[in-house]
Amino acid sequence: METFFGIYFFIFGLLIGSFLNVVILRLPNKINMVTKRSACPSCGTQLRWYHNIPLISFIFLKGKCAFCGVRISWRYPLIELFTGLVAVWLMPSDFSVMSLTNFFFYFSIACIFICHFMIDLDHHLLLDSLNIYLLAIFLSYVVFYYPWPVWVIGGLIGFGAPLLVTWLFYKWRGQVGLGGGDIKLYGILGLFFGPTGIIFTIFMSCLVGAVAGLMLIVMKKMTKDKPMAFGPYILLVAAFQIFFPEYAHMVQSWLF
Ligand SMILES: [Zn+2]
Repeated sequence: METFFGIYFFIFGLLIGSFLNVVILRLPNKINMVTKRSACPSCGTQLRWYHNIPLISFIFLKGKCAFCGVRISWRYPLIELFTGLVAVWLMPSDFSVMSLTNFFFYFSIACIFICHFMIDLDHHLLLDSLNIYLLAIFLSYVVFYYPWPVWVIGGLIGFGAPLLVTWLFYKWRGQVGLGGGDIKLYGILGLFFGPTGIIFTIFMSCLVGAVAGLMLIVMKKMTKDKPMAFGPYILLVAAFQIFFPEYAHMVQSWLF
C-alpha cells in the first residue's frame, strides 16, 4: 500500500514540478501561465501534449526538441524529478485532515522555494508574487499556532535588521547590498521562525553566502564588483530550518 501511494505522490510531484518549470520560465517575463501553450524556445513550434509528459518526454526525445533538434536543458527533468522526490519524502503517513494539511503546507513551501531559487539565479529577482504566497501560507499557520508576540517580533527583526544593515552599508559605501526582495523574504521568514530563528537565518545565510562568494571569486566564476544572487543562500538556510528542524536546532544551540 505504502509503495502504491508513494508512486501516486511521485507522479503528483512530477506534474507539479513540470508546472514549476513553466512558472520559473514565465513568471519573471510576465507571460501568461495558463492560456499560452508551451513552445520550443528555439524554433517556436508549439509542443504536442506528448512532448510535455514530465521526465518521460525528455527521455524519449533524448533531451532534444522533436522539431528542430535543439538541446533541451537538463534543468527541466531535474526540477521535475526533484519535486517528485520531495512529494514522496513529505508524503503523509495517513489521510487524516491533519496529515494532509501538513503535507500541503510543507509541499507548498518547497514549491515556492524551488521557484524563488531558480528565478533568483536566472534574473537576480525574488518576485513579490511568490513572496506574497509564502506570506499567506506562513500567516495562516502562525496566527493559529504561535502567540502573537513571537511572530510579530520575528517578522520585525527579519525585516528591520537587514533593512538597517543595508541602509548603513549604503550610507558607508554608496552601494546597495541586499535587494528589496531579500529583505522582504527575511521579514516573511521571521514570522515563521520567530526572533531567535530568524537571527539564525540571517547569520547563517550571510556566512554561507560569504563563503560561497569567496569560493566563486577564487574559482574565477565571479568578480568582486559583479553582484551575486543572494536569495539562494537565504533559501538554503531557511529550507534547512524548515525541513530539518532537529539539525537546525542542534546547530543553533552550538552557536547561541
Ligand atoms: Zn525546436
